Amino acid sequence: MADNVPRGAILQRDKETYAIVPRLAPCGLLDVATLRLIADVAEQYQIPIMKITGAQRIAMVGLKPEDVEPVWKALGREPAPAVGPCVHYVNACPGTVVCRYGQQDALGLGTELDEKLLGYGEFTSKFKIGISGCPMNCCEAWMRDFGAFGRKKGWTVVVGGQGGLRPRLGDKIAEDVSSEEVVGLLYKTMDAYKKLGTKGERLGTTLDRVGLEEFQKLVLG
Ligand code: SF4
Repeated sequence: MADNVPRGAILQRDKETYAIVPRLAPCGLLDVATLRLIADVAEQYQIPIMKITGAQRIAMVGLKPEDVEPVWKALGREPAPAVGPCVHYVNACPGTVVCRYGQQDALGLGTELDEKLLGYGEFTSKFKIGISGCPMNCCEAWMRDFGAFGRKKGWTVVVGGQGGLRPRLGDKIAEDVSSEEVVGLLYKTMDAYKKLGTKGERLGTTLDRVGLEEFQKLVLG
């Protein structure tokens, strides 16, 4: 069965059914029409489990293999990148759009990055981005390969954070920068990671190996 995996589907523990994760909720944002579409498709194909993921997406779980392609057609969306050495996701909190603690527009920056960068890159491992509107860090910038959180004067940027088997807090590389500067630093960070990363290595591991100073020469130099 694993040799014949339907498009954009992930085989589940029962070795019979599949999960799919459509690209339909940038930074977890949903509207009524999208929610209705998801509910209609889930009802039509009797999808037993709908799970909000850590990537702020909705996973549709327990599909029969023959239903996967018709479900994609009914949704009219592409699979969100969930595997492979590329940008997997951008998390963003509500920021100044609605949160009373917000100091910068996390949703605005997050959705811009989501649109530009999902699936981007041929890195040595996955790459996750987290944008938070204030230092409370609800979207855990310190735990993402690239993160930014807002303060009154601008964004603080951190790189090399990760969870998983080798948890690591990110290293701060900039403070009080604009949204445009965050985007520039992100591209430079990804370029440096492409250059320095070795097989299977997350960015934090690359940083530990080459040293923050060496890395910063490429990103800030
Ligand atoms: S990180 Fe700050 S701005 Fe974002 S949701 Fe949390 S408290 Fe609000």
